Amino acid sequence: MSEDSNMTRLSIVRGGTEATRRFERLVRPHYEMLYRVAYRFTGSQQDAEDLVQELCVRAFRNIDSLAELDNPKMWLLCVLRRLFIDQTRRYDRTNVCPLVAHYENPKEAVGLLPHEIMHALALKQKGLALGSNMLWDCVTCYMCQEHCPQGVCVTDVLYELKNLALKHLKEKAA
Ligand code: SF4
Repeated sequence: MSEDSNMTRLSIVRGGTEATRRFERLVRPHYEMLYRVAYRFTGSQQDAEDLVQELCVRAFRNIDSLAELDNPKMWLLCVLRRLFIDQTRRYDRTNVCPLVAHYENPKEAVGLLPHEIMHALALKQKGLALGSNMLWDCVTCYMCQEHCPQGVCVTDVLYELKNLALKHLKEKAA
């Protein structure tokens, strides 16, 4: 679905009024960025388009409130993330990581999975954890952290490990 078809659909819904002009001014400039973020979340062109379309409908319904915000871009990003989380919860309540769910064979694609990285760290196998491609693929969506039954800050740990891995790479290259 293209941006124009989204706009046409929304214009019909609201009759092409002041709301449409506000939508053009407040949402359209961020459309490409929103699509890129949605693609990072979902890993799929179709899912990213669906997510952004849902966000556009939500934004259009709330366009008057959006117009009063200092930073509508932040609102759009927050709602996009919320929609993605809701969608993932609907689709899969047990496997919360969208990347793991996305791959047919996740271990082959990324190496150690998030919970395995946590286990490796618990066993003091930091080198093993640092070697997982999961560190580079993680989109920092916080799903694993929000759902961890043991309250482990999984996303924060992955982020720290990624910084550490980057540091090692830079030191090697120097
Ligand atoms: S933050 Fe957690 S759930 Fe989200 S992509 Fe990274 S590992 Fe997966």
